[in-house]
Amino acid sequence: MHFGICCGALRRKDSNVNTAWIMDHIMDSRNELLGQRIAGLERRIAYLERIVKVSQILNSTLSLEPLLRIIIQSATELTHTEACSIMLLDKRTGELTFSYSVGHGSEGLNDVTVPLDNSIAGWIVHQGKPLLIRDAKNDPRWHSRVDETIDFDTRSILGVPLKVKDQIIGVLELLNKIDDNGFSQDDIQIASTLAAQAAIAIENARLLDELQRAYDELAELDRLKSNFVSVASHELRTPLAVILGYASFLREEVSGEAGEQLSAVLQSALRLRSIIDDMVNLRHVETGEIQLDREIFSMTELISEVTGEFDQLAKAKQQVVRLELPDDPLKIDADRQKIYLVLANLLSNAVKFTSPQGRVQVSAERKGEEMWIAVMDTGAGIPERDLDRIFTRFYQVEPTLTRRYDGMGLGLSITKSMIELHDGRIWAESVVGKGSRFTVVLPVSPYKAEPVAEIVSNS
Ligand code: ADP
Repeated sequence: MHFGICCGALRRKDSNVNTAWIMDHIMDSRNELLGQRIAGLERRIAYLERIVKVSQILNSTLSLEPLLRIIIQSATELTHTEACSIMLLDKRTGELTFSYSVGHGSEGLNDVTVPLDNSIAGWIVHQGKPLLIRDAKNDPRWHSRVDETIDFDTRSILGVPLKVKDQIIGVLELLNKIDDNGFSQDDIQIASTLAAQAAIAIENARLLDELQRAYDELAELDRLKSNFVSVASHELRTPLAVILGYASFLREEVSGEAGEQLSAVLQSALRLRSIIDDMVNLRHVETGEIQLDREIFSMTELISEVTGEFDQLAKAKQQVVRLELPDDPLKIDADRQKIYLVLANLLSNAVKFTSPQGRVQVSAERKGEEMWIAVMDTGAGIPERDLDRIFTRFYQVEPTLTRRYDGMGLGLSITKSMIELHDGRIWAESVVGKGSRFTVVLPVSPYKAEPVAEIVSNS
């Protein structure tokens, strides 16, 4: 019994030791597993932090160089590799060029090229998928030339394609795992994610470059056009002045059929002069050469004067032109000549785009410190989608080739510039087939800055 007890005690003691040992062992393995999990999680956090950082930089800068440097630096650090390179594909030569690299001798790699055929990078471009090589020297696609150029010893390679919308534009290559454990699935994922970021950055830079080139070309075309407008308008003005002078003189002298023919010549010459005036004004607006020459004048008087100029034209189309003006002279401090041009453009359009027997009406009133002028017609009208566009240069609702009306599409853009120069505004409202209404709002007197409040110091 005693023995039994003793043995039992011993066995119990033994089993206690075993249990404790097993428990310890379980705890150890659990701790080890936990440690591994924590290390794994830490690696993932570091990886995610890098990706977030790269994305932040990608979103905040358009300069490619620093961004790609961070991408390849992050790639080597996160995958524990000795070197990383980005090679870009030159579509013309069909070669891959080392464009960005970190690692031993990387400075010597700039502009070194690798052929597309029979190379590791070329294979990645052709296949469009990652490639993992544990023993590079024994791979038939491996070229020793690059190693020799920079005195580097390549052992293992992980390469991933740089893709932009299904097009392979290059390759990101990681070389030599530092602990020589071989590349893992994690490494492939890290390299692929960073390669995707690099591809976006490269594409952004390419688009920006293209945009800049298009912008430069446009600026050059604009400069050429301005020069042409300037030279053409200058060269046309002088002979036209001679034509106008003789035609007006002869019109006074000649009657009958020849007189009517001369009237037609005079009308055409006047139209030509208004086109040239538009061209000159456009150039002045574009070059900022235009300045306001202010004076105080009566808006009702100016409106009557301009409308008078269109009387003949309106009568010829049997149109009724009505003025709705108050007795008040509606004094305004503005550039009379430029406001004349504004009203002339609006009235000319109203008469032009209104069919015979239609109506044109001009009204003006003062609202507080502003002058509101409206030019209305019962003409063709303007589709809703064109209401803003008609104020841009050369925009016409009807396509040039099928147009029934003359004009160059410049009047309203010049009109708008003149009004904005006065700190005013203009807009159009219209119903197709019923008519249009153009509203101009001008400050009655130029805006004067409020005097700055005096700072009173009590000290
Ligand atoms: P232009 O009259 O020389 O074509 P504008 O810049 O003065 O150039 O006008 C631009 C376009 O806006 C016109 O071609 C026409 O399509 C439209 N438009 C302007 N005013 C009217 C109007 N009163 N009625 C209908 N369409 C108009």
